[in-house]
Amino acid sequence: MMRFMKPHWRKYLGARAPRYTSFPSALHFDEQVTAVDFAARLREISLYEPLSIYVHVPFCRQMCWYCGCSMRVENDYARALRYVDALLLEVSRIGEILNGSGQPLSVHFGGGTPNYLQVDEIARILGAIESSLGLTDSTKLAIELDPRLIRGSDVARLAMLGFGRISIGVQDFDPDVQAAINRIQSFELVENAVGEMRGAGVNDISFDLLFGLPKQTPASFRDTMEKTIALAPDRVAIFGYAHLPAALPRQRLIEESTLPSSDIRIELSELADAMMIAAGYRRIGFDHYAKPDNALARADREGRLRRNFQGFTDDIAETTIAVGASAISEIEGLYAQNAKDLGEYYDRLGRGELATARGLAPSPRERIIGAAIRDLLCRFETEISAVLARVSPHEANAICGRLDALEADGVIEWRGDLIAITEGAGPLARIVAMALDPYENPVCGMTNRPFARAI
Ligand code: SF4
Repeated sequence: MMRFMKPHWRKYLGARAPRYTSFPSALHFDEQVTAVDFAARLREISLYEPLSIYVHVPFCRQMCWYCGCSMRVENDYARALRYVDALLLEVSRIGEILNGSGQPLSVHFGGGTPNYLQVDEIARILGAIESSLGLTDSTKLAIELDPRLIRGSDVARLAMLGFGRISIGVQDFDPDVQAAINRIQSFELVENAVGEMRGAGVNDISFDLLFGLPKQTPASFRDTMEKTIALAPDRVAIFGYAHLPAALPRQRLIEESTLPSSDIRIELSELADAMMIAAGYRRIGFDHYAKPDNALARADREGRLRRNFQGFTDDIAETTIAVGASAISEIEGLYAQNAKDLGEYYDRLGRGELATARGLAPSPRERIIGAAIRDLLCRFETEISAVLARVSPHEANAICGRLDALEADGVIEWRGDLIAITEGAGPLARIVAMALDPYENPVCGMTNRPFARAI
């Protein structure tokens, strides 16, 4: 599928669309879902049910001004140790409820900055997961690392613990861009980190890049892409930066006048796409790339690509158990999010409860729409008749009207019971998904929610 945008698709580029790592999105979560509900669903997990375990580490050494994550800058390591103790308690409490049920296929440490923690602490958390939830030799371990915080033998020790997949936040290599986002990390730093990973036998290295950052130009981003390709990561995620200072006050530190225009954003996106494809990477979904022999590319080829709270994944587990402040678990028919505030997270655990503070139990209709949205994002097509059969005639008419408008613009085509995103329109996949979403204005409307830009 060629990626280049047709001129008349540019009108969609001002629209903001949810990332759809869940449906309905976390913005619709409320306090009706409690720790009691989450515990009840945990008890229903069967003996061999595949599990994906997510561990959230909210601490960072310094704040990147573009950041949209749930994080806090922390300078007192004693507070991190307290957090680790709470994580251990949470893991053991979940383990008591599961009582041996479920099989973790993967454990992912995300943040924040997981390597804000020393490797000893990461090993303690992993040990707790092993004793309470069970790990096998085939459980895949992944971790996000800030290259600025990698110390001495960290990478080798993480590899010894079994981490076979490491993601690095790169964003951009240009010094001016890095200064404008308050994230200074030299190319040599990243190059050394990649060298250490390869030397330690880590064979799945992932980079995160951002386009649309302040001071980015096509020339500077070409240089970032050339450097990226030279380091040959196995996967690359290239996200569009969403500047939402009203919702994310830290982004007010970014000088708006230095942000690239919509036209330049498109150029940056197309440039990155063309360079990744020319370098032999496979396009995955609408914002990921992988080497053809990478597990993510294999999953895509074999129709097994999935989307969860970490983005596109080859993980087949449909159940995610997430620990740590703000972490979101997903068990069929329930999203359960832990307290975001650290004090509240500690209080809930201290009272002998799970840390769930809010969530959502999607209705049958929402689950069908959610499945269709996932299909659109992962496979660029979906059986739309399944959705139309489950919504009211009024809603069905509204959805068809929005899809017809997208068809008239050549963004999708109807193929019997299916709708398919057309060649080149992959970057608009979230716009198409939004046409099915009863909570969003269709296609061109803006909402006041902190959504990411579609491109
Ligand atoms: S290191 Fe990551 S989580 Fe921390 S502030 Fe920067 S972007 Fe946000």
